Amino acid sequence: MTFRLTCPVCGKRDVYEFTYGGPERGPRPPEAEPGAGSDPAAGAEAHFRWAQFRMNRLEPQEEWWHHAAGCGVWFSTWRDPATNRETRPGGGGAGGDEANVGDSS
Ligand SMILES: [Zn+2]
Repeated sequence: MTFRLTCPVCGKRDVYEFTYGGPERGPRPPEAEPGAGSDPAAGAEAHFRWAQFRMNRLEPQEEWWHHAAGCGVWFSTWRDPATNRETRPGGGGAGGDEANVGDSS
């Protein structure tokens, strides 16, 4: 099954042109500074969880994609893993003019 993603530079392209960069994880947690009164182990644990753990949810999420076989730009977009449709936070399709599920090329 294939679907299409919207590159901000090139427009809609087949997903096979892209490399998945993973879900948006938010900002990197601050590192514990020695002597600052914070627990270095807690800072290391927070960084480990931020770097290594991925939530595998079946709901719309913000994701990073790389247009590897195209312009080479990295961008983030919202996608619903259940339907592979690009979406917006809180639902609703992106673009709204073209269904991108089950497109075959
Ligand atoms: Zn592109």
